[in-house]
Amino acid sequence: MRNDEQPVLLVTGGSRGIGAAICRSAAGQGWAVAVNYASNRAAANAVVAAIEAAGGTAIAVEGDVGSEAGIAAIFAAVDKTFGRLDGLVNNAGIVDAPARIDEMTAERLERMLRINVSGSILCAAAAVRRMSVRHGGKGGVIVNISSMAAVLGSAGQYVDYAASKGAIDTFTVGLSREVVSDGIRVNAVRPGVIDTDIHASGGLPDRARDLAPTIPMQRPGTAQEVADAVLYLISPSSSYVTGAILNVSGGR
Ligand code: NAP
Repeated sequence: MRNDEQPVLLVTGGSRGIGAAICRSAAGQGWAVAVNYASNRAAANAVVAAIEAAGGTAIAVEGDVGSEAGIAAIFAAVDKTFGRLDGLVNNAGIVDAPARIDEMTAERLERMLRINVSGSILCAAAAVRRMSVRHGGKGGVIVNISSMAAVLGSAGQYVDYAASKGAIDTFTVGLSREVVSDGIRVNAVRPGVIDTDIHASGGLPDRARDLAPTIPMQRPGTAQEVADAVLYLISPSSSYVTGAILNVSGGR
């Protein structure tokens, strides 16, 4: 049973992979969690069921962060169920099939930037409207999920994806300074190679295992290892941290 004092966290793309681990961990730390998904309702329901079985509070929220209507629906559902928002994790993101620049189309690029960049910026805008002390809110936290690709560039695989995460890094720094006086902290996490379904979605199901020898720690990371960093950044333990970008990459 939820009490009105319980802080509310929205995790975009919370149904699978890194997002699902963030949802479960945040619920364990006392957050009521809105588990957003794009199409995999069963996966989102499974995350909600696991949280509820452990005594936590969660709802599944459908909505495509790559569409304005989808974002409006996500925040409307959070408003309706919880009536407050205290944190946002901009986790939803996509890759595409490995390609060189000479094979990339405008359509591919538009989708990549719409979901990875515009989706994160517009979700942050909606969250700031609710959390900012300027708008009568209580302040809050935002964590953006970037990628080591922002630094390494992903040559020969997906430079468009890497560029989208470079935008997330820059957005994190700018937004953190813009909303610091609104009572909102903004940070980012840069995962390295993490063992999730995202690699298969790009047509490289063995990517995490194949890259292991190139990673200083000689292994891919787990979704939970990324979630642990995010949990630090949404907790009061990081009360003096804003505008930071934390690599969670096994040294990669
Ligand atoms: P994943 O396993 O493919 O899961 C993606 C999640 O995002 C799913 O919950 C999916 O929902 C959701 N999603 C996808 N498109 C969406 C949209 N348009 N609107 C709303 N939700 C959407 O991915 P992951 O590996 O956990 O990646 C999570 C984040 O970490 C991404 O931003 C990714 O770029 C970043 N990252 C991952 C790695 C890695 O190696 N895994 C490394 C660096 C950075 P459905 O279940 O409904 O499809």
